[in-house]
Amino acid sequence: MTSTELLEKYDMTIGIECHVQLATDTKLFSGADNDARGKSPNSVVSPIDFGLPGMLPVLNRAAVDLAIKAGKALNAPIANVSRFDRKHYFYPDLPKGYQTTQMYDPIIQAGYIDAPLDDGSTVRVRIHHAHMEEDAGKLSHYGNYSLVDLNRAGTPLIEIVSEPDIHSAAAAKAYATELYRLMTFAGVTHGDLYNGNMRFDVNLSVALKGAIELGKRAEVKNLNSFRSVEKAAEYEFHRQVALLERGEAIVQETRGWDDAKQITNSQRSKEDAQDYRYMPDADIPPIVLTDQEIADIQATVPRLPGEWRVLLKTIGLDSLQTETLLDAENEYRTTLSLLDIVEASSDNTEKAKFIALWHVNTFVPLLRDESFIATSIDYTDLITQLYDLTKASKLSSNSAKAVFIELAGSSELPDIESYATEKGYIQESDEGAIAAVVDEVLADPASAKAVADIKAGNDKVIGFLVGQIMKKSQGKANPALAQKLIRERL
Ligand code: MN
Repeated sequence: MTSTELLEKYDMTIGIECHVQLATDTKLFSGADNDARGKSPNSVVSPIDFGLPGMLPVLNRAAVDLAIKAGKALNAPIANVSRFDRKHYFYPDLPKGYQTTQMYDPIIQAGYIDAPLDDGSTVRVRIHHAHMEEDAGKLSHYGNYSLVDLNRAGTPLIEIVSEPDIHSAAAAKAYATELYRLMTFAGVTHGDLYNGNMRFDVNLSVALKGAIELGKRAEVKNLNSFRSVEKAAEYEFHRQVALLERGEAIVQETRGWDDAKQITNSQRSKEDAQDYRYMPDADIPPIVLTDQEIADIQATVPRLPGEWRVLLKTIGLDSLQTETLLDAENEYRTTLSLLDIVEASSDNTEKAKFIALWHVNTFVPLLRDESFIATSIDYTDLITQLYDLTKASKLSSNSAKAVFIELAGSSELPDIESYATEKGYIQESDEGAIAAVVDEVLADPASAKAVADIKAGNDKVIGFLVGQIMKKSQGKANPALAQKLIRERL
């Protein structure tokens, strides 16, 4: 059967669990540095993180605040009382012998997100809950020995658990992408995917279309890119359907993703499932939050992607332009916020649209140019002035772009209009001056044929005359004005 036929015969059902590392300065229960990037193994670990007996963990309030912000992004209420539990298992990356997590009373309750799909529609995925927990360390395996690095042990996480509302690989990718946008825009995580700031576990099962019961599911663990989420879902669908088509059974199991081969492989089956012996953690008091506290913290969450989409649509951007801008915001927010520049003009729709499109067409391509480095100049001021000069017909759009590219990397901004004048970019909008050039061009015998054509009704030829006027004025004439003057005369 072809892929399309199989997709018509079987339904896939996907739920995703996502671990998000929170952007705190210190770890969840200790004062150890939470940023291990570039640091030598086991250099940012406190005795609390490796569970030395007698140590007493103290909950990091900053992590709680970020979880409260995440709740807003997930459209989910925050529990007034939540608690920590111990999840027991032995693995060398967790020397405590248990992970401190939230099993029974998680901090973030049920919610949902709306993820945009490429075709312009959205998929709503309900969130079952999200809980706080600590990350484990990292093992590296070499020949007949392994090494453990505990720098990541105790890093604060929230684990976001979705309902099984996802029914295609594309929707799985869209969900992961939107979750990433929400968590980064809300300031919950740095969103460094390469360093594992967000990791996705994809649970997928297949069943004949219309079947009441879901099939047995496989869980593909630790995917760290949107593309691998999509590819792993596609691969699992076909692997499981192939088993069913051959009359074989699907086993419930945990699988890993081999990014080089683009396949999943079995890691452990349901038979090895562990009893985690969950129990309340007696060392950490419950998190008790008043509604007022929650509201105050959530009020500091900046505009989220969904709200930006509404605003950008209102000022006239299409969805491709909008998504380009949202992506760029994540990419460059540590140096400058493109959306803040749009927001600064949001009371003036025309100006805001000019600025937003300026980003999409001019600024983002410049930022992507490796030889360009953004400086501390006031980009809002620069772009706003270029807008004003363009609107006053003093700069053509090409000249405005040229001025921007010349100035965007400078350390200090000159007076923009004087600069543009000096460089010969200001276009002539003085009717008298242009009229003289227009008359000169119309009187030129070389224009005679064009003039006759226009008089005979061939309007296209007017471009030729405007071109002549631009040439004579050395590009400074305002073309719209030149065209108007030609029409008046013919
Ligand atoms: Mn977990």
